[in-house]
Amino acid sequence: METVLYLTHTESDGSLGKPALEALSAALQLAQELDGAPPLTIGLIGGEVQAAADALAGCGAGRFMGVAGAELAVSRYSSDAAAAAALVEAAQPTLVVAAATSRFSRALPGVCQRVGGRIDTQVTELQVVDTEPRIERWYYRQRMAATLTRSQRPWFLLLAGGAFPAWEGEAGTAEVEAVPVDMPETRTRVVGTQSASADAHTIRPEADLLFVAGAGWTKKQVDGQPHVTEAEQCIREFVDAAQASLGSSKSLVDQGGEGQQVLSFMSHLHQVGQTGTTPRHRKGLATCCHGEEPHVVGWRFITERRAINLDAGCGWGQGKADVLYVADAFDVMTKVNELLGES
Ligand SMILES: Cc1cc2nc3c(=O)[nH]c(=O)nc-3n(C[C@H](O)[C@H](O)[C@H](O)COP(=O)(O)OP(=O)(O)OC[C@H]3O[C@@H](n4cnc5c(N)ncnc54)[C@H](O)[C@@H]3O)c2cc1C
Repeated sequence: METVLYLTHTESDGSLGKPALEALSAALQLAQELDGAPPLTIGLIGGEVQAAADALAGCGAGRFMGVAGAELAVSRYSSDAAAAAALVEAAQPTLVVAAATSRFSRALPGVCQRVGGRIDTQVTELQVVDTEPRIERWYYRQRMAATLTRSQRPWFLLLAGGAFPAWEGEAGTAEVEAVPVDMPETRTRVVGTQSASADAHTIRPEADLLFVAGAGWTKKQVDGQPHVTEAEQCIREFVDAAQASLGSSKSLVDQGGEGQQVLSFMSHLHQVGQTGTTPRHRKGLATCCHGEEPHVVGWRFITERRAINLDAGCGWGQGKADVLYVADAFDVMTKVNELLGES
């Protein structure tokens, strides 16, 4: 019989992040679909865990366990691994489900090794076929999906962000069993966190919309001149007003290294595609971007796709977008910004 442990860590304010709530809904569903499996066990790690447990009180879990302490208020391999291993030892699960946060991606592979299990990371789907749990995972820069299962237990599953709906439900009062841990001597002292550069602040993983700018924004336009300053203003205005996340094609972010005029707030962190990122926003709008395969492969998880291009024969027009506006992106986005300003 399978038993499922959902592991989560709190954020610095004691709350649970969206990836944790997504992994919870997936774990609850898995425990429900596995024939004869007992209700889910929840294992919490953090400086304080009661508030987070209370927030999940209505989820239908059978048991809440927690490891709390000042050492666990911050992300550190040695303390996180000790806490997670103690929870796994106490719960004796066959399946461990957790979000692939940077904190757990670092600590859980080591925990898995300690308890003699196996681990798969960046899981995008969970299924139960007959009585067998199966996972889906993408390979080769999201080009091939594989469905796989394992016989070894415990099997740790780190779930990719944005692939499952976030759990929503009633808060209440949860009774948390405190699990004792032999905390190792810590050699690493966390002195603070440094936030990403100002450029990266236009990358908003939680946004509903991804706005992609392509190299066309910096190319010569109908009057024979490039209009990079106008392009910068137009893009920035839209992204700020719509609170959209900003993405780029490779050609646009590479231009800096090639000595061409570039958009000042773009960096390689924005690049979407085969050699860039694979964001998970619900909607995407590509502008002045040709929609070539190495770029569009990064749109794998974007469900509603639109593009604006002067060229009706661009890649987006060949089945890669739901809607292609054959138009000048400068004109369209200026009008959109005007309308956004009015509203
Ligand atoms: C191994 C490999 C990996 C790669 N990885 C990536 C990757 O990760 N991500 C990525 O993006 N690319 C990647 N590429 C590059 C990719 O193949 C394309 O070269 C790149 O995506 C093209 O960028 P672009 O569409 O912005 O530029 P362009 O191809 O120059 O297209 C510009 C577009 O803008 C349009 N345009 C111009 N002015 C306007 C206007 N006023 N209004 C509307 N439209 C306008 C033009 O019609 C044109 O379609 C990779 C290539 C290789 C070989």
